[in-house]
Amino acid sequence: MSDYPARALINLAAIQRNVAALRERATAPVMAVVKADAYGHGLVPSARAALAGGATWLGVAQLSEALDLRAAGVDAPLLTWIYAPGAPLARAVRAGIDLSVGAPWALAEVRAAVAATGRTARIHLKVDTGLGRGGQFLPAWRDMLDQALRAQAAGEVEVVGVWSHLASAEDVTSATTASQREVFLEAVALAEAGGAHLELRHLANSAATLVRPDLHFDLVRPGLAVFGLSPLPGVSAGEVGLEPAMRLEASLMVVKHAPAGQGVSYGHTYTTTAQTVLADVPLGYADGIPRHAGSAGPVQVAGRRYTIAGRVCMDQFVLDLGADSSAAAGDVAVLFGAGTDGEPTAQDWAEAAGTISYEIVTRLGVRVPRVHH
Ligand code: PLP
Repeated sequence: MSDYPARALINLAAIQRNVAALRERATAPVMAVVKADAYGHGLVPSARAALAGGATWLGVAQLSEALDLRAAGVDAPLLTWIYAPGAPLARAVRAGIDLSVGAPWALAEVRAAVAATGRTARIHLKVDTGLGRGGQFLPAWRDMLDQALRAQAAGEVEVVGVWSHLASAEDVTSATTASQREVFLEAVALAEAGGAHLELRHLANSAATLVRPDLHFDLVRPGLAVFGLSPLPGVSAGEVGLEPAMRLEASLMVVKHAPAGQGVSYGHTYTTTAQTVLADVPLGYADGIPRHAGSAGPVQVAGRRYTIAGRVCMDQFVLDLGADSSAAAGDVAVLFGAGTDGEPTAQDWAEAAGTISYEIVTRLGVRVPRVHH
């Protein structure tokens, strides 16, 4: 183990079991979305664990992440969807990576990569069904489809997929989701009528994988749920058969007695009310601990929960453990984990910081070692 005083323990067996659970729930094969360094869990080991759990596809946002997976020897089917003009698409085509095409320039660059490599590219045409983000809205999408089908007829590309992303799947009753489904079906029908032999129609993220089987089509694309976090408001991970895979902990650094009336950390926003024991925890906002979680940030030490005393600093924060604490330097502080032993969860941190658990795990700094077990 690294000598860094904090670590994120990553339970690969939990990732494997989460994917197996998602496979059971889904009526279609699973593409494990492992973008953003596998939501902070470590790209390659997490991808391998997801494949061991039965995922048959991997999805990453950035082309560089797809190339990293191939460089590590991961040869599973792989889709990437974020690249800008001038990206090294020829490398992707050579590496057998499926490419999302969400704009006419992207199709032109894929065709150039095909010409450069002498290989055919497999593409998934991205339709904007209502998120208002990637892909084209239906009228422009028709034009892009026509161009793609011409490139297919010329043997340059294979239009293997039509796909889209949901705006609010976590709200199962949302009218937006219903309307996105309709637009998606229309895009699929247009592609099929135009002669595309679609292997993969895909729309579902974690939330839709868990609660909307009518959106599963040929492939589901869960990300957050792979890592054991629930995307559904008010529904815990355990309730949907998931186990959080990341446990963030640190060793207490300085533990000392302090008098009543002692101001703590920058700006003295916290003052001790009685004689007490203060402990420095060597994690700060440079490690991704949200500064604005402030005194709401929950931490477990020796089986008891505390909240942060005073401001989170760049590399550390302080806990007020109370006068009766027998804590010592080297004792472990748990910021979040599975939640099965009374420890806080990433969801608890999300609530303390007014954000979502996605942000808590993905913002964890690169200098915090990921220890896979
Ligand atoms: N598909 C796309 C295009 C995404 O951008 C994401 C993540 O935001 C996912 C799937 C996975 O979403 P989630 O983590 O909510 O399952």
